[in-house]
Amino acid sequence: MTAMQTFDFIIVGAGSAGCVLANRLSASGAHSVLLLEAGGADHHFWLKAPIGYGMTFYNPKVNWMYRTEPDAALAGRSGYWPRGRVLGGSSSINGMVFVRGQPQDFDDWAACGNPGWGWADVLPYFKRLEDSDMAREHADDWRGQGGPLHVSDVRAHVHPLCRDFLQAGAELGLPSTDDINGPQWEGVTINQITTRKGLRESASTAYLRPALKRTNLRLITHALAERVVFDGQRASGVQFVVDGQRHVAQARREVLVCGGSVNSPALLQLSGVGDAEFLRGKGIAPVHHAPSVGRHMQDHLCHDHSYVARKPSLNQTYGTWSGKLWAGLRYVLARRGPTSSCISRP
Ligand SMILES: Cc1cc2nc3c(=O)[nH]c(=O)nc-3n(C[C@H](O)[C@H](O)[C@H](O)COP(=O)(O)OP(=O)(O)OC[C@H]3O[C@@H](n4cnc5c(N)ncnc54)[C@H](O)[C@@H]3O)c2cc1C
Repeated sequence: MTAMQTFDFIIVGAGSAGCVLANRLSASGAHSVLLLEAGGADHHFWLKAPIGYGMTFYNPKVNWMYRTEPDAALAGRSGYWPRGRVLGGSSSINGMVFVRGQPQDFDDWAACGNPGWGWADVLPYFKRLEDSDMAREHADDWRGQGGPLHVSDVRAHVHPLCRDFLQAGAELGLPSTDDINGPQWEGVTINQITTRKGLRESASTAYLRPALKRTNLRLITHALAERVVFDGQRASGVQFVVDGQRHVAQARREVLVCGGSVNSPALLQLSGVGDAEFLRGKGIAPVHHAPSVGRHMQDHLCHDHSYVARKPSLNQTYGTWSGKLWAGLRYVLARRGPTSSCISRP
């Protein structure tokens, strides 16, 4: 095992959270930051072209591709949980839909005893992170302009079937909204997406890339963190593996675990943070008894509805070789057309 140098902050995971933290913590230049990522670079074409979602959904090179244990509530079936394993993490493989939680959700968190998490507290940060096309329309207190993450308004470019869908919602008496992230957040709508000039905008493109020129930020890819190292009950470093070689980096100030909702609790448990009895049963010496770690996970199930349409869908229009060629040319020349479109914006 080789001992590496000491950093002020060590961040595990270069996903949505890790990229933002790497940017913000290194911004002043006063602190040294080490960012460890188990996956590799995000240069691949299908990580850039929004339609690439379908190509990365089952690609083990960029995706942890987890499967749950058989679930009694799903009649014994096991669920598929994709998670990004690449710079940008899940933001490099996600559906790019930009939708914030409802104000009530945040106020509920604050009411549960979490000061600083109410809607009025988080709204300034939501505004600061985005450079939204919608901010032109909503010169109110809801949307932001000039932030690192570009949010595209694609209403003018959607497939005609989307308009039929909106109309069907109206005929059913459902509310509709022009901006799901505005004052009226409930209703049938066209999604806003995190793209910039027809390319995917991820936490990596928006936050990490601009920060990588700083000399006080060090990024190591293909670095799998195995455990947080403790000095008593203080997290003092991280043990990780690169190319089969084991290393330990020391943290003067903090270790920030940003491995995502599946890997973060797993890494904590491997480090001795979790339910003490459960850890002992697995042969792990407990460092800190925290019974909630690895429990209370909530996920939202997704399922698709398929219908036969009278109007030609994108698959029919572009499914042929000539259609694919035309779609490819439109994308390369103008960053327009179905290749620039995300899965949730047919
Ligand atoms: C297929 C898919 C579609 C989605 N669609 C949308 C959408 O349309 N809109 C939306 O708002 N959200 C969507 N999400 C959710 C959203 O992308 C995530 O909530 C968000 O990216 C999570 O951020 P995170 O920082 O917690 O984790 P992640 O972004 O997953 O980052 C975790 C990072 O840590 C790394 N890592 C993990 N363990 C280790 C370790 N031991 N050592 C080193 N590195 C490690 C991982 O490789 C990864 O890069 C989607 C997610 C997926 C997977």
